[in-house]
Amino acid sequence: MDEPTAIISFLILYLVLCGLVAFYASKRGVSGAGIFFVSLFFSPLIGVIVAAVSKPTNQPSGTKKCPDCAETVKVEAAVCRFCHHKFSN
Ligand SMILES: [Zn+2]
Repeated sequence: MDEPTAIISFLILYLVLCGLVAFYASKRGVSGAGIFFVSLFFSPLIGVIVAAVSKPTNQPSGTKKCPDCAETVKVEAAVCRFCHHKFSN
């Protein structure tokens, strides 16, 4: 395999990896496009880490997560409708 072919093969592999990372991110509810560019500019490894630590953005607005049972409840709720946890705020 001559030099240019090796570079092109590496670039294609790199792009595929970025795509896989973006796919993994979108599965987790994290912006796939954002993670794709992070992977592209830094490395797919960084992209995986960022995707893994990012909080999902698909949580409906006006809701919060109960710290006790992890169910999604309305922001205005004073008591969790699932486990009756009392919210302090
Ligand atoms: Zn709860």
